[in-house]
Amino acid sequence: MHAASHPNGEPRADVAVVGGGIVGLMIAWELVRSDRTVRVIDPDPAGGASYAAAGMLAAVSELHYQEDALLALMLESAQLWPGLLDSLPEGTRDTGYRTAQTLVLGLDAADKRALTDLRAAQARHGLEVEPLSVREARRIEPMLSPSLSCAFHVAADHQVDPRRVCRQLIAAIGSRGGSLVRASAVALLRAEPGENARVTGVALDDGSGVLAGEVIVANGLGASGLGGLLAPLESALRPVHGDILRLRVPDRLRPLLTATVRGVVRGHPVYLVPRDDGTLVVGATSREDGLSGVAAGGVYQLLRDAQALAPAVAELELVEVTARARPGTRDNAPLLGRMRDTDGESIAGLVVATGFYRHGVLLSPVAADLCRRVVDGESPSSLDAFHPDRFSQAKSKEPV
Ligand SMILES: Cc1cc2nc3c(=O)[nH]c(=O)nc-3n(C[C@H](O)[C@H](O)[C@H](O)COP(=O)(O)OP(=O)(O)OC[C@H]3O[C@@H](n4cnc5c(N)ncnc54)[C@H](O)[C@@H]3O)c2cc1C
Repeated sequence: MHAASHPNGEPRADVAVVGGGIVGLMIAWELVRSDRTVRVIDPDPAGGASYAAAGMLAAVSELHYQEDALLALMLESAQLWPGLLDSLPEGTRDTGYRTAQTLVLGLDAADKRALTDLRAAQARHGLEVEPLSVREARRIEPMLSPSLSCAFHVAADHQVDPRRVCRQLIAAIGSRGGSLVRASAVALLRAEPGENARVTGVALDDGSGVLAGEVIVANGLGASGLGGLLAPLESALRPVHGDILRLRVPDRLRPLLTATVRGVVRGHPVYLVPRDDGTLVVGATSREDGLSGVAAGGVYQLLRDAQALAPAVAELELVEVTARARPGTRDNAPLLGRMRDTDGESIAGLVVATGFYRHGVLLSPVAADLCRRVVDGESPSSLDAFHPDRFSQAKSKEPV
């Protein structure tokens, strides 16, 4: 690491990234590639939501009503993924990236109506989704149930294995001189009183600190825990827990599936993502009940619904059940860009990248690109809809 030592003995870097989930690591990789010295601070890198994620890069299948700005960001990020993977050094390219197609399936008549409505919305946005007969879907994936009500084909959505991506990013960052500090950030460091608000680094839980020209706060749900200037994020962030399963397909059933299968089963969304190591990821519930461990009912629901789409799921080995909280926001869009104070003035040295909710894997390359541009001094217009303080700024401008 090229970080020089500060007179106080605290290491100094161009950029300190708080949080080493997929978003923080992707930002750090982008910044070391722009020849900056970078320190990533995390007591448990890649152990948060990124550890649970299925890794679908599903800009088309995940279209949601009234999320147009988010859709544009998702489509841009999906385009950035191949180049990002090419940017990784030799020896760090094993990321589980797959361009296999996605099949979207419904079980009963109501599921068919819901998916037909979704397809109409996708068509209005110019997104390509092709209807298939159930027979055609089963020709592509013979292990699917014959009792489906509908099938659609999405060519554009792809997948990565987020655990592998994080591992490779850590290696890649290290290969360019970046470093990982295994500690928790507890507070932002500020310039002396009297100066304009300027963040100069972060204090760590072991009593040390990292001084940096820019601090990028990318620690998911932990962002508001740094207090002070970041306290307004507390009311913007919400944990949305998800249960997710990993199953091993026995040799005699391989390949169980080659496509990613997304379904709606009696109103419940479920997905089955085959990995090239012969495992299958089945996810994910979406709960705001505050239970941080795995919910028994969630595991039951996922297995029940996955079996309805592919009955042989009952014959697989269940190797892992995991639950993590997605860093959700009040409007489901990320909190991204330079933080502003209560007067709406940009705070020098402080950039926020959190709140990626259901799409943090997909969105990490575009988040990294935008953060690098902000650190370069640009104000990209694509960030206008995602100001990290948009909820508190709106409130402080309400007439009294
Ligand atoms: C079940 C499930 C399935 C999902 N599937 C998909 C999917 O298929 N596709 C997709 O795009 N997205 C998916 N997501 C969403 C995605 O996982 C998240 O949006 C993404 O992981 C967020 O990344 P992050 O780096 O912001 O946060 P995290 O991965 O939560 O990382 C935050 C990091 O910050 C660290 N940290 C916290 N506090 C501090 C502190 N004070 N100091 C230092 N470090 C700190 C933590 O240790 C952690 O490593 C899924 C999520 C879940 C739960």
